[in-house]
Amino acid sequence: MKATGDDIKSKLIHVKGLVQGVGFRPFVYRIAYKCSLNGWVENRNDGVHIKVEGSGEKIDVFLTLLKITAPPASNIENIYLIDSETECFNKFEIKKSENTSDEVTEVSPDIAVCAECLEDMQTQPNRIDYPFINCTNCGPRFTIIKDLPYDREKTTMSPFVMCADCRKEYTDIIDRRFHAQPVACNVCGPQYELYYEKKAIKDFREILPLTASVIDNGKIVAIKGTGGFHLACDAANDEAVKRLRLLKHRENKPFAVMFASIEEIRRNAEVNETEEKILQSWRRPIVLLFQRKNTEIAPSVGIGLKTIGSFLPYMPVHYLLFEKLKTKAIVLTSGNISDEPIVIDNEEAKQKLTAISDALLVYNRDIYNRTDDSVITVVNGKESIIRRSRGFVPNPVHLDLNVEGIVAAGAELKNCFCIGKGNQAIMSQHIGDMKNIETYNFYIESLARFKKIFRVKPELFVGDLHPDYLSTKFVNKVAGKKMFVQHHHAHIASCMAEHKLDEKVIGVSFDGTGYGTDGNIWGGEFLICDLSEFQRYAHFKYIPAPGGDKVTDEPWRMAVSYLYNIYGMDFLNLKLSFLKSIPRAKLDLLLIALDKKINCPLTSSAGRLFDAVSALNNICCYAGFEAEGPMRLESIIAKNNQEKYPFDIGNCISFKKTFQGILDDINHKTDISIISAKFHNTIIFIILEVVLKIRNETGLNKVALSGGTFQNRYLLENTEKVLEENKFEIFTHSKVPANDGGIALGQLAVAAKRRSMNCL
Ligand code: ZN
Ligand code: ZN
Ligand code: FE
Repeated sequence: MKATGDDIKSKLIHVKGLVQGVGFRPFVYRIAYKCSLNGWVENRNDGVHIKVEGSGEKIDVFLTLLKITAPPASNIENIYLIDSETECFNKFEIKKSENTSDEVTEVSPDIAVCAECLEDMQTQPNRIDYPFINCTNCGPRFTIIKDLPYDREKTTMSPFVMCADCRKEYTDIIDRRFHAQPVACNVCGPQYELYYEKKAIKDFREILPLTASVIDNGKIVAIKGTGGFHLACDAANDEAVKRLRLLKHRENKPFAVMFASIEEIRRNAEVNETEEKILQSWRRPIVLLFQRKNTEIAPSVGIGLKTIGSFLPYMPVHYLLFEKLKTKAIVLTSGNISDEPIVIDNEEAKQKLTAISDALLVYNRDIYNRTDDSVITVVNGKESIIRRSRGFVPNPVHLDLNVEGIVAAGAELKNCFCIGKGNQAIMSQHIGDMKNIETYNFYIESLARFKKIFRVKPELFVGDLHPDYLSTKFVNKVAGKKMFVQHHHAHIASCMAEHKLDEKVIGVSFDGTGYGTDGNIWGGEFLICDLSEFQRYAHFKYIPAPGGDKVTDEPWRMAVSYLYNIYGMDFLNLKLSFLKSIPRAKLDLLLIALDKKINCPLTSSAGRLFDAVSALNNICCYAGFEAEGPMRLESIIAKNNQEKYPFDIGNCISFKKTFQGILDDINHKTDISIISAKFHNTIIFIILEVVLKIRNETGLNKVALSGGTFQNRYLLENTEKVLEENKFEIFTHSKVPANDGGIALGQLAVAAKRRSMNCL
């Protein structure tokens, strides 16, 4: 449409935020077309640039539509507007991408298949049951992107040459697949292949029913997913689930379950409106829900815990499988060997996963960036993220700090690193527990890829104070400026960074382990801190952790340590039932170690305290996975119990009276659900008393809660409640995990703040 006359205006528009790989340019084209505007739109490294010409009124309408009707997975951060010269364009066009600057815009996370594509899968001749269907509103993104700008040649789709039909859609500006980089169909796109009983089956019409029947018959199938392989089996078949546990060497960590539909989730779990919204969002994370009683889910899925990690199909193949499957729920757990990163490569899958599965379902497109499923829980109506990976990464966290060029290495467990770009903190996908070479290699590889994709030139590296973490060793090894941040300060700084807080706050930092400035193991910490420094106001009383690292796998050691600390050897006369499961020789050795202080590092850890109470009540003497003791203790809490145990608060918080109270209750055969509630309430009241004391002394009223212990839903919900009743301003995590997966954000923020103050 030719625009003429004197009232023609021209604007240059620069849109920043998550605007690439989410169908933004075609969307801009369509609204420009609607508003009869001419000009162009172009993808550049620093965002989407638009030039429009037309009447001022129409430009206003265009700008409104730009803001309020943007694609679901996009996220506009800023729109910059300047007046421009009119050039009398006679059409609106989408210009080809150019590399114009080093200021990179955001990369989209992977998006679950959309409703329209699911419909197309039943109607479009070249896409009937085609499992790689996608459009500008859905499909793989981060997992296939090798570099920016986001174009097909820079993804793992590059070996696939578009057929004429696909190309037509790809180049048709009005089509939903216009410039959808992974566009594909049955003729030209990726294909699945099933390895079963020494045969390779290539016909998808054969693969689908066969895979479904293998699962329905109680077998295990390794299935290549969006960000890595899964192992799948019927979640209603206890034998199958037990066998999967055995083969995977995963004795008792709960498995996540994919359900056929939201109705199926409702039948099996309690799910509120917020949880439903998150389950059905395009990010499709695993959501931890309370499982209903007497469902058909096999007992060995949740192994006695009351929650069930539930999620909905997000790949076309998941939907297609459920059409054929008799079962409405499948266990879908990461395809890996014990603690290694999930397998992404077909050849590696053949080597490593065939031994632990009965069939292998692969496809011939590479996964470039490995991502696990993300995990979320809803606390007090708010989203709280436990594992941040597929669907979230690499969305940045926006800060009010200049973090350019800072690389934060993270901690050890559940590692994520974080790189700084302008005022954006870009958190990596979940890397895992950095305790083996495979995970370390994944870390190094991902860091190199993030640096390349986001054009970051590192100038400052930040690590944890713990000298033995592989992430710390990495920081020590690289050339350049470096800095180390205390673990619990980093936790609180992470929470502060999420909320753009840059002032003094009260920090409650509770977790399992973190290296303290005095060389002891911290973890029950009350800090007064800002982003640059902290003061340790109070902490849980130090207690020996006999056996050092062994205490995390053997919570009974902490129970004995607390008892020995309070009663000396007399505790042996108390006839505690948990001691029956401990071999006498082992116990004696431990007592000698405590007496002679051999390998007994001191700890103020909250996690270890929960471990001790859990073991003392014979709930968990040996842990099969991290924090099993605390999780089981939480899982049995009696509802509506307000009682608590006594405790002492000085500079150190002593639990002597608490333990005496618990032992009293054990002697009186009080139900463990009551003991658990009373213990949790005790911790909540300790938090309240200490922060009240700090407020009285300092006038500070903002409280940040962080650290893995705050993944305990009862603890977090009720701590928030009592602090709110006492008019505190409370800050908790939602964008990054409260556990060590969120540490890197805090490290980044502390480093940026110190750099800005010139106190490196
Ligand atoms: Zn779609
Ligand atoms: Zn095609
Ligand atoms: Fe921690």
